[in-house]
Amino acid sequence: VAAQRERFIASVHDAATVPTEPRRTSRAPRPSQGPGFRNLPDTDPAVADNRRWAAALLATAPSEPLAAPATSIAEVDAAVARAASVAQSWGATPPARRAEILRQASAALDAARGDLVRAMAHEAGKTVGEADPEVSEAADFAAYYADRAAELADGTDPLARFRPDGVTLVTPPWNFPVAIPIGGALAALAAGSPAILKPAPQTPRCASVAVDAVRSALAVSGVDPDVLQLLQVAEDEVGRHLVTHADIARVVLTGSIETARLFAGWRPDRDVLAETSGKNALVVTPSADLDLAVADAVRSAFGHAGQKCSAASLLILVGSAGRSPRLRRQLADAVSSLAVGAATALGTTMGPLVEPAQGKLLRALTTLDPGEQWLVEPRRLDQDGRRWTPGVKHGVSPGSFFHVTECFGPVLGVMRVGTLDEAIAVQNATAFGLTGGLHSLDPDEIEHWLEHVEVGNAYVNRHITGAVVQRQSFGGWKASVVGPGAKAGGPGYVAQLGTWADAPDLP
Ligand code: GLU
Repeated sequence: VAAQRERFIASVHDAATVPTEPRRTSRAPRPSQGPGFRNLPDTDPAVADNRRWAAALLATAPSEPLAAPATSIAEVDAAVARAASVAQSWGATPPARRAEILRQASAALDAARGDLVRAMAHEAGKTVGEADPEVSEAADFAAYYADRAAELADGTDPLARFRPDGVTLVTPPWNFPVAIPIGGALAALAAGSPAILKPAPQTPRCASVAVDAVRSALAVSGVDPDVLQLLQVAEDEVGRHLVTHADIARVVLTGSIETARLFAGWRPDRDVLAETSGKNALVVTPSADLDLAVADAVRSAFGHAGQKCSAASLLILVGSAGRSPRLRRQLADAVSSLAVGAATALGTTMGPLVEPAQGKLLRALTTLDPGEQWLVEPRRLDQDGRRWTPGVKHGVSPGSFFHVTECFGPVLGVMRVGTLDEAIAVQNATAFGLTGGLHSLDPDEIEHWLEHVEVGNAYVNRHITGAVVQRQSFGGWKASVVGPGAKAGGPGYVAQLGTWADAPDLP
């Protein structure tokens, strides 16, 4: 199989004609002008031209120049001052006009699809299968928030006046290095606030390519480029100066719960909005379609090598589902068949870790607690600990380290319980509440689970990662969220980035 894959990739590389644009699915692309949101289609890998497009992209390293990081407090102050100086005019730009500009930004992001996919593969270890939908998501955020901007003053409620927060700092993680920064920044712009984007130090290029695309759309519309600034700073005292800056009115963080606590301590005035960690489980009952459950568990646990807040970390098998040798064999086979390799190789289905495994993840990959056994033992493939084969441990028990700890990497724990209620209790017994899934074909079980599971995103008979803008807005519950918690890609996200006041009483 490996040799065949090599030959396939070689033949793709040798192809004489390389299309410059991917062809899409049968769905027509969304019009870039005017309201009427529809999700952008992803690039369909079943189309041979698209595979040639992807292979050609991955064969070359990104060449876009990268701006130098801001290393001094004076540089940070200057950037914040520039943002503050355009806050008034951007906030006064009619919402319908802001919406139009955001729709152009959406088209620009889609047009930069190839450069974004390449940057994500080279810098963030994302396979094409993970990176391409992320571009769609970023462009979808832009178009969806454009519609929400337009609503801020649609005239339906003359008493609802809205004032944008002002300069907004967006601090995204490295695991979704395009969609999360762009989603946060464009939500701020939609609300009428200038945005400063501080990319994760691991993925500055992904953010830079995306910001260039958005800025090209701003330029076409004659908007001052200072409404969206990319500011690379180290996570030292200069970074702290930025986060605590008095002229930053709002901070939008996506990151670990530790970072959220740190920021909230630095800014005790509660203007930090954060989506944080998760410890997410997929429950499978005996009524489930087990083939589907295995496929969705593998996709949820090992997509982007498990480096998603939304990833499935626990598979909870109820009753006879936990005793099924077929399910166990299928799970082991499917996990062992993942093609581990460089994200820049077209056949790879699981790329490397962005950071070498350490701490909790290293413990999860190398240690079994009492009662646990490897169903698939992970293997380390390199010296520095970024390349691992995926692992599955079974016999994870309630209250153990693996049950309650977010590990953020390619390891899945299997637990067996007697009843659906026990599964729900185990699923809810962590501080977090981000995503969760149920595989069941019994309507009563589905209803019961939906009523009791404590997660922001509950998925039934589907993988539990990959929320889709508008259709499955994304956000957490319990310790997974800080702030009012309107979900990204959902109706209230832009509206929470400002204050609302009733008009003064009329005489
Ligand atoms: N929105 C992503 C998903 O639904 C997860 C984002 C994250 O990991 O923070 O898979």
